[in-house]
Amino acid sequence: MIIKPKVRGFVCVTAHPEGCAAHVQQWIDHVKAQGPISGGPKRVLVLGSSTGYGLASRITAAFGSGAATLGVFFERPSEEGRSATPGWYNTIAFTKAARAAGLYAKNFNGDAFSADIKQQALDAIRADLGQVDLVVYSLASPRRTHPTTGVVHKSCLKPVGASYTNKTVDTDKGIISTVAIEPASEQEIADTVTVMGGEDWEMWMQALTDAKLLAPGAQSVAYSYIGPEVTWAIYKNGTIGLAKNDLERAARHIDSLLKLNGGGRAFISVNKALVTQASSAIPVVPLYISILYKIMKAAGTHEGCVEQIQRLFATQMYNGRKPTFDESGRIRVDDWEMRPAIQSAVAKIWPGVTTENIAAETDIAGYRTEFLKLFGFGLPGINYDAETEPHVPML
Ligand code: NAD
Repeated sequence: MIIKPKVRGFVCVTAHPEGCAAHVQQWIDHVKAQGPISGGPKRVLVLGSSTGYGLASRITAAFGSGAATLGVFFERPSEEGRSATPGWYNTIAFTKAARAAGLYAKNFNGDAFSADIKQQALDAIRADLGQVDLVVYSLASPRRTHPTTGVVHKSCLKPVGASYTNKTVDTDKGIISTVAIEPASEQEIADTVTVMGGEDWEMWMQALTDAKLLAPGAQSVAYSYIGPEVTWAIYKNGTIGLAKNDLERAARHIDSLLKLNGGGRAFISVNKALVTQASSAIPVVPLYISILYKIMKAAGTHEGCVEQIQRLFATQMYNGRKPTFDESGRIRVDDWEMRPAIQSAVAKIWPGVTTENIAAETDIAGYRTEFLKLFGFGLPGINYDAETEPHVPML
């Protein structure tokens, strides 16, 4: 099959197996080039391990500190005439590379919110690793079937309390338009908190604690975002922001649980805004990212997922370092994004961006390149005109 990108709105419905593998290899190469992370984790459970920040965490743990990793993710395999989702190919590429390096890597493709997948992962930890010393929680999902009630909750990206109007960009076509979003209902808010809040993270950590599968001193981290004021109505103060507040509540609860387990800890890391499958679905944010990339690249401070997580592990969590927490007990690897000089440069560009000047005023080209890379397109050394085998079994 010859696989070309097919972009539909904010998703690409095709993915290239060799391209995804080349992308994963770039991330592995980055982590290796930074050198070993001393005192890094050795047995790691990553929830949401196939793309974005979760994949970056798995790669950093494996290739930064030689960790055995167990990854949980939800990806669709290939079908007749259709490629698999990129996380499927990413995971296969990661697993091959990890095993070639002599590292344990096991995968669970299924619903992390379900009791069944939790049980399977716990059984594998008990049988293969004994315990884990780090749990990374990096799920981004549009829905959650609640494991006890069976109710399906859908998350939404809406403002709370008042409608919100701002600029947004169709990243595929480069067209700027005004988007007006009505505020979420109470039910939509509650559902988003149920999907993207902290309850599921707490369920995982409670199950691991009860089964005595956390090594003494084990840590857990979940990822969040805050961003600048221009996005607050849709992000920080919107439905997703309320869910993230609940994630912070869960962090405090899990932290108290882990403290009792040999002085471990749990915390939130606030990460930088980046092109991922999850972030491209948020209105307004892709335009902000396109401007941010331009400013941060010019300042020499631009990072991608793997640079962010390598920095988190190497300068905050391990390497003999102590984490620096903000006033709310969060680690901030969004620090370079939030620098006043960066933010004021973004704020200066924001009001004047139009469809006509978007190529000059923003890094929309860089956004598109990164977006296509998520699906394995545009990687050097790949012949995209050649036949490729889309049907690859999970390892
Ligand atoms: P992503 O879409 O790249 O990754 C999501 C992961 O979750 C994938 O591995 C996917 O397979 C998995 N997943 C989704 N539903 C699942 C389910 N039911 N069961 C098992 N696995 C499931 O997303 P991302 O952008 O890397 O987001 C990860 C976390 O980082 C989120 O909490 C997000 O809010 C946070 N974050 C993202 C950004 C950003 O700009 N992208 C910035 C800061 C924080």
